[in-house]
Amino acid sequence: MKCIHCDIEMITASMDTGLTTGSLFYIWKKEKGVFSSTKKSEVKVYVCPECGYIELRADKPKNLI
Ligand SMILES: [Zn+2]
Repeated sequence: MKCIHCDIEMITASMDTGLTTGSLFYIWKKEKGVFSSTKKSEVKVYVCPECGYIELRADKPKNLI
């Protein structure tokens, strides 16, 4: 994936809260109702080594459907 600003290849990186090292970012979605399960997907982080632009992408977006 290329940076939309610099047109150079972006690198993957990890992002977390800093509170728990090694924790991952997730996006999640909960259906209405007490017994429904929470759907979640890991988030992939791409960063441009030139300008620092960050792009986030759901690793398994179909998990949220
Ligand atoms: Zn860039």
